[in-house]
Amino acid sequence: MRILVTGGAGFIGSHLIDRLMAQGHEVVCLDNFYTGTKRNILKWMDNPYFELIRHDITEPIRLEVDQIYHLACPASPIHYQYNPVKTIKTNVIGTMNMLGLAKRVKARFFLASTSEVYGDPDVHPQTEDYRGNVNCIGIRSCYDENTEILTENGWVPFPNLQPGVRVATLNPDNQIEYHVPDEHIVQPYVGNLLRFANSKFDFCVTPNHWMYVKNRTGKLNFLQADTDVYWHHQRAITGAEFLAAEQEWFELGEPPRNAKVNVERVRMDDWLEFLGYYISEGCVHVRRRARVVNGCDYDIADYNILIAQVNPEGRTAIAECLQRTPFKFFDSDDHQFRICSKQLAEILLPLGKSGDKYIPREYLNLSQRQSLILFKALILGDGSQKGNAYAYYTKSKQLADDVQELAMRCGYAATVVNHAIGRDLYRVNIRPPKDANLVTPEPVRYAGNVYCVNVKNHVICVRRNGKAAFCGNCYDEGKRVAETLSFDYHRQNGVDIRVVRIFNTYGPRMLENDGRVVSNFIVQALRNEPLTVYGDGSQTRSFCYVSDLVEGFIRLMNSDKIGPMNLGNPGEYTILELAQKIQNMINPGAEIIFKPLPQDDPKQRQPDITLAKNWLGWEPTVPLDKGLELTVKDFRDRIEGNQK
Ligand code: NAD
Ligand code: UDP
Repeated sequence: MRILVTGGAGFIGSHLIDRLMAQGHEVVCLDNFYTGTKRNILKWMDNPYFELIRHDITEPIRLEVDQIYHLACPASPIHYQYNPVKTIKTNVIGTMNMLGLAKRVKARFFLASTSEVYGDPDVHPQTEDYRGNVNCIGIRSCYDENTEILTENGWVPFPNLQPGVRVATLNPDNQIEYHVPDEHIVQPYVGNLLRFANSKFDFCVTPNHWMYVKNRTGKLNFLQADTDVYWHHQRAITGAEFLAAEQEWFELGEPPRNAKVNVERVRMDDWLEFLGYYISEGCVHVRRRARVVNGCDYDIADYNILIAQVNPEGRTAIAECLQRTPFKFFDSDDHQFRICSKQLAEILLPLGKSGDKYIPREYLNLSQRQSLILFKALILGDGSQKGNAYAYYTKSKQLADDVQELAMRCGYAATVVNHAIGRDLYRVNIRPPKDANLVTPEPVRYAGNVYCVNVKNHVICVRRNGKAAFCGNCYDEGKRVAETLSFDYHRQNGVDIRVVRIFNTYGPRMLENDGRVVSNFIVQALRNEPLTVYGDGSQTRSFCYVSDLVEGFIRLMNSDKIGPMNLGNPGEYTILELAQKIQNMINPGAEIIFKPLPQDDPKQRQPDITLAKNWLGWEPTVPLDKGLELTVKDFRDRIEGNQK
């Protein structure tokens, strides 16, 4: 038989092709390599019964085939949310194209649908006639890409905000006040809202930066906070409490005996200026003795500013701990200092690793004037300025967040964006409030890209952690449409269809970065990183090994039933159990840590496979331990680079 597999270079598709080729069929693989890879089908490339066509199924194609397995669609949240509109197009236009092809050449059409069509199910296990618990405009925001809100307990992701916890707001006198929201509403289209309806406040704040405001006539409407609107009640954040008293000295500690340098403390202002610049530009390089290596392209004047120029008396202490070396490190503009003070070396060492840089917490609660010194020094290092706005660049996500927080504390408005998708480079966009007096903040007017705004002179402090937190159900809705289209083509045009709803499937060739639980845990354990359990890990999932699934596909395709039919493994495990299993298998010393539960994360997902058993005599045969063992081996080979 001549069989078309769309998405054949992906995880499930390539296993299906292996089986079809082994059965002696002629196979055409159609894929645009969005998430699939040639490596998955490499072994068939020279086989005369195999043909690979690079094609995007949102464009029509003409082929002569007898059966079509339609799998093309990114399957992991990280990938399908990356471009939600494309995901919808693939499911709608792509499925229509494939159904059109099936109609034209009278091929049997098989749709790989998903258990996600049931939404967050409230019936367990799910049978095929269950209609689902669906929120078609809800957010299924993924992982830690949430907006956070400043509370009395520090920053917390919006969905984790517990009832009764007080939220930081600024009053017209620029004082922080903490208030318990009257209501935490999940609103269609805007997501979370905090409502202070019954207090003296009269507004709501949403995490995706829409304000829900009452205008002068009392009418409620939405206003987007991060567009360039001049709105006279807007004011930028001055985000948090400051230390009332300034710190005059920074204590380096007592020097060791026989120390070359006997500096015990330095002026705090000088220290902050040095530290900010150092965090941006410096790194410590250990070679027999610790050194500071500044690999940057500023000329020596900047160092003079840093160390000696402005206030030579004040700066001599730091200068004494650092000695310019004649050695040129990269080129003539690079500078290197030897750290002559052991205490200083110890303080600086942990701060200097490029992807892991951060601002130690104790510097995020200084007086506003001193915060500003640190902020300006950071900008001098890795910032740029355009008019009144700044941008700060760093490879460290933590440092980007810290700079944002510092900027907000200094009275600026700041957002963090991933500057180069696919690479870790973050940009903090910083804008000063118009006419702000940063030393003694006044209620100010602000026009521009505010991160959070106030209404009636009150501000709630929110910040966005990571990229787009707001993404609709492109995948779930797309698959529901694909199912509807399949049944309509069947009823109206007589297309011979088969529809399966796949439950969580795992196995070799899953992408290492697909963000799904099995691949995440395995990769983390192999890399000796902590295993990240979302929530308390009590939610359950059922995991089906890929060879079992493929067996079910082929049986359904060649049966006389059209479905929809569940295929999955009914064996249920909590996510914590899964983490422990993988931990024991790979790395019993690996740590398990708990992270916030993504919004709308189903508590339980479990297939009822009675239909598959009765119609096809199908049930899974590979136990979880065995399947995990095979999967771990494949990941180990790939990660350790042993894949042939
Ligand atoms: P995958 O991402 O590994 O494979 C999908 C393949 O489709 C990739 O090779 C990708 O390059 C290709 N593709 C995507 N958009 C395309 C387009 N516009 N044109 C051509 N090719 C395109 O995912 P997978 O896990 O193998 O999933 C396969 C199918 O099974 C998907 O339809 C998915 O929705 C469904 N499914 C999978 C699971 C699971 O647990 N893996 C669960 C439920 C449903
Ligand atoms: N999960 C987790 N840690 C991770 C990835 C996922 O605890 O690193 C959880 C996730 O919150 C969900 C479950 O594991 O409850 C399965 O997630 P996955 O994305 O693999 O599948 P789905 O939610 O689509 O069933």
